[in-house]
Amino acid sequence: MSQRNYSKSDLNPVAQQFELLVLGSEGTQIGLAVKTLEAHGYHVQCEASAAKADKFIRAAMAGSRTLHAVLLEIAIDRSQIVELLKLLHQHYPRPARIVLARPDELQGLEELLNDGLIDKLLLQPCSDKKLAQLIEDTVRLHEAVLLNVELIKKVDDLQKEVDAANSNLDKRVKEKAEELIKLIYYDELTGLASSALLKDRLSHAIKSAARDSRKVALFLVGLDRFKYINDSLGQDIGDQVLRDISERISKCVRSSDTVSRFGGDVFGLLVTDAERVEDPGFLAHRILEAVAVPLKIQGQDLFLTASIGISIFPSDADGANLLLANAETAMRQAKLQARNQFRYYSGEFNQIASRRLSLEAELRRAINKKEFELYYQPRVDVSSQCVIGAESLLRWQHPDRGILLPGGFLSVLEETGLIQPLGYWVLEESMQALQRWQAQSLPLIRLAVNLSARQFHDRQLPDRIQQIADNVKLDLMQQRLELEITESLLMEDITSTRAMLQRLHEMGFKIAIDDFGTGYSALNYLITFPLDHLKIDKSFVDKIHTNDDAKAIVEAIVSLSYSLHLNVIAEGVETREQLIALQSLGCKQFQGYLFAKPMPEQQFVSLMSDRGGASIVEMAPEDRLLRDPGR
Ligand code: C2E
Ligand code: CA
Ligand code: CA
Repeated sequence: MSQRNYSKSDLNPVAQQFELLVLGSEGTQIGLAVKTLEAHGYHVQCEASAAKADKFIRAAMAGSRTLHAVLLEIAIDRSQIVELLKLLHQHYPRPARIVLARPDELQGLEELLNDGLIDKLLLQPCSDKKLAQLIEDTVRLHEAVLLNVELIKKVDDLQKEVDAANSNLDKRVKEKAEELIKLIYYDELTGLASSALLKDRLSHAIKSAARDSRKVALFLVGLDRFKYINDSLGQDIGDQVLRDISERISKCVRSSDTVSRFGGDVFGLLVTDAERVEDPGFLAHRILEAVAVPLKIQGQDLFLTASIGISIFPSDADGANLLLANAETAMRQAKLQARNQFRYYSGEFNQIASRRLSLEAELRRAINKKEFELYYQPRVDVSSQCVIGAESLLRWQHPDRGILLPGGFLSVLEETGLIQPLGYWVLEESMQALQRWQAQSLPLIRLAVNLSARQFHDRQLPDRIQQIADNVKLDLMQQRLELEITESLLMEDITSTRAMLQRLHEMGFKIAIDDFGTGYSALNYLITFPLDHLKIDKSFVDKIHTNDDAKAIVEAIVSLSYSLHLNVIAEGVETREQLIALQSLGCKQFQGYLFAKPMPEQQFVSLMSDRGGASIVEMAPEDRLLRDPGR
């Protein structure tokens, strides 16, 4: 074994910091390599048994010293060396793992190399210098790799920190933006839309209404004397009042409308499809009523009122700002005048509204004073000219204005719900008339009663009718009552309409579709309803011998009624020509001034007793057969 002496300056400065563990036998080539390495400055710990090497490694793992490389001569103890390599690989990757083997010992080692358990496999024999060089290179390379791994991990960690900070920042920016939007667009106290959001929506609504020629209504609802509540009861109670009122107003409107806190004690309300001029006034009324219900605050009733200003696009203004200003003017006028009322910006609407209001009051009074009466218009068989039925028509005996027709007040009855009590009165009165006529031995005829949408949609209708019939002692199953329902009402909600019709039909009512031809009935539904009559609208009858289209429509309705096995009745027949034309098209019954106008009961009774009438045989026997159930 040759030995060379190195001077201090020959020493590798990096190598001086390195600790090497060598497992090998001194007498072999490895011993010479160790000497060379030591000469290069490495601290080398040489062990002759795997057990000792194991102990040394565990001490290093425990942290008592740092180990930079292990050199393992596989011939010493193959199986235990493999265990050592696993231990290092899994728990202490710091030192480079170098294995020395002879060519005949290679089997199995390549696999360990591939699996990363061995960093470098050195073949023996080779010169001690070469061996030392290889070991040194391996250690350096391993150190560099370790350093790299560490750096990459540090960069990774940093990246993660940056990512986390970024996403945190994103979240906070988003939260702040949402907070800001909330602040700008919603009122903190009530949760309603802010004035900014209302203005925004108002501008949009105006644009889209202008496109489709629709109307937009803007309401400003100001609480009357709210300052007084705030001053005398304190701001907390004031806040509570504002919250309660905002809830009440919200309940008055549809979800498509926007309710906003417009500032202080003023609420804004945007109605985007204010098609009918009467509608806004109606809604204003509801809001006033809702506000007027006493608030329970600290066990005491608090009475509030509001004043409402309404402006309408396009008649009052063509832009959002002017519409707002006009609504405000109207609100101020309402406050100045009497409070607890609404004002339109435009005088024209105010007149309509106040007329409707006084009409409503008058109608209430008229119902109480029983100023209503029924007139009867005969229904006539075309060929025999016999009266086979009649229609009850409402009349108002106005104390000053005389007999009033329903056209002038029916819509107010409908909108205010007054039609419900009055409608039941009409039914009761009609039933009583039938009983009276029977008692007077008049010919048995059928009487038709008009039902409006509001009445028809009342779920209690069948029970209430039955109750009335029981009181009047009229047997509904005699089928002497008929209900007239307009065509447009029929198509509103097919399923519940069908169920209601079925129920009424089973109770013994005949069902007629009024104003037929003016609505848009889908034929496939018509077939499924339990119907008995179609009444051809007067507008077609009017033009039947002057307009080919009208004639064609009547012809189509008649043939439709034949195929659906329904009776067809022409309404509003005023001339002989009309009647002849109707007859030639196959229409078998009619009503109209040609025969008689609607008349008071007494007159009707004398007509019936003079002329007599036909009993209720309206259908040809073959038709009856066809409409038998089960066919
Ligand atoms: P309607 O059911 O279509 O009634 C027919 C209307 O035409 C009646 O008007 C009748 O007087 C009128 N009329 C009949 N024959 C002729 C004619 O030859 N020429 C002209 N020009 N008119 C004729 P009225 O009595 O003014 O009733 C109007 C509407 O009011 C009715 O139309 C009906 O929809 C409704 N109505 C009437 N009474 C009641 C009722 O008790 N309850 C409900 N819900 N609605 C009613
Ligand atoms: Ca009718
Ligand atoms: Ca009609």
